[in-house]
Amino acid sequence: MSTYSENFWHPMLHPNEIKQREAIHIVRGDGVYIYDDKEKQLLDAVAGLWCVNVGHGHPQMKAAITQQLDELEYFQLFDGISHPRATEMADKLIAMSAQENMKKAFFTSGGSDSVETALKLARQYHILRGEADRKKFISLKNAYHGVHFGGASVNGLNVFRRNYEPMLSGTFHVDAPWTYRNPWNCEDPDQLAEFCIQQLISEIEHQMPDTIAAFIAEPVMGAGGVIVPPEKYWPRLREVCDHYGILLIADEVVTGFGRSGSMFGSRGWGVAPDIMCLAKGISSGYVPLGAVLVNQKVEQAWESNNDFNGVIMTGYTYSGHPLACAAGLAALDIVETQNLPENAKQQGAYLLENLKEQLSAFSSVGEVRGKGLMIAIDLVVDKQTREPVDPMSGFANELAAVARREGVLVRPVGTKLILSPPLVFEQQHCDELIRALVVAFREIDK
Ligand code: PMP
Repeated sequence: MSTYSENFWHPMLHPNEIKQREAIHIVRGDGVYIYDDKEKQLLDAVAGLWCVNVGHGHPQMKAAITQQLDELEYFQLFDGISHPRATEMADKLIAMSAQENMKKAFFTSGGSDSVETALKLARQYHILRGEADRKKFISLKNAYHGVHFGGASVNGLNVFRRNYEPMLSGTFHVDAPWTYRNPWNCEDPDQLAEFCIQQLISEIEHQMPDTIAAFIAEPVMGAGGVIVPPEKYWPRLREVCDHYGILLIADEVVTGFGRSGSMFGSRGWGVAPDIMCLAKGISSGYVPLGAVLVNQKVEQAWESNNDFNGVIMTGYTYSGHPLACAAGLAALDIVETQNLPENAKQQGAYLLENLKEQLSAFSSVGEVRGKGLMIAIDLVVDKQTREPVDPMSGFANELAAVARREGVLVRPVGTKLILSPPLVFEQQHCDELIRALVVAFREIDK
């Protein structure tokens, strides 16, 4: 029975459910391991929540944050005020995204803030260019873009909207290019990419192209179940957005800084978006931080405007928080010097191949899929029909509980198990994770 959570509500959980659950109380972390209050060691196969990419308790991170604490714990960026870590962090982000031609950073306090800011800037961009009718957003079914009203409106998972409606008007959803589950029952990646693109074009035409501000998507869809689009999908998205004058927003909150095996998820598809939403890995989760990057095309709209319409009337008290930027600078230094995107690619490939080999025979394993260190195990009641397990059955939770007993923390999300380990994972850690999951499926898969 839970004794720890009586005075707060957990995100994404019915408050009564916690009363029936075994309490998990994490008290410290070290590298890829975390420890609970009974000193049980757990391999952190979720990197906190897709974010602790450099691992826990990293000495360089601790040094950067404590040194900053000695210097300046906080100051704002409003009204033209600045501080050294924010300017250094902006320089770093622009340098790292030179290939995408990003020109300006706008700091936020996290992923939902970054999405909200990106949506606002997209509308404002069109106003500045004399196309004030461009207000609408198109996004993907199964997408996750955070929880603020704008982000929840473009979310493609209706559970995030249901109890909070009405949402932002002018948001429309098209099918995600998901080979395992799609309305066309199409498993050919090229063909599926084109079906989805044609559906998008049809929606754009139906809405009328000059009313659409932006299309937003995750380069690899995370919370929706690690949906990896076909190779051709993002390049075609870029073409379609350019053709109709629609901004392409890449929500890189999870994929940014290496997780999907390239520095940015969109770079992995050979595509440069107009706007990027960043958070999580930007500071490895040590201190909350987010950022939005805009490319030269977007920046240009502001360069050539000098009236009130160009004022960026949005921002956060903690935009560019000094401790967060200090953490960010250290985190990105580690990501680059240790080439963590490459490690994510290699360990991810090893993990995926071995999980497929060892889990596919279990009757409840529908599909194991992923890219880099983003992996999902899709749980089904029938391999043939691909009918998912009942999300209320607790099946995923039971698997996760056995994995925990075996010393590994994985994330049960309804009909899936999600794996998103720190990017410093080594082969021995992959093996530990695989072993625990095999034990879990042997026990629970009946
Ligand atoms: N976008 C994506 C793609 C995400 O995965 C998340 C969080 N998992 C968010 C936005 C929201 O980020 P945050 O929880 O930091 O607000």
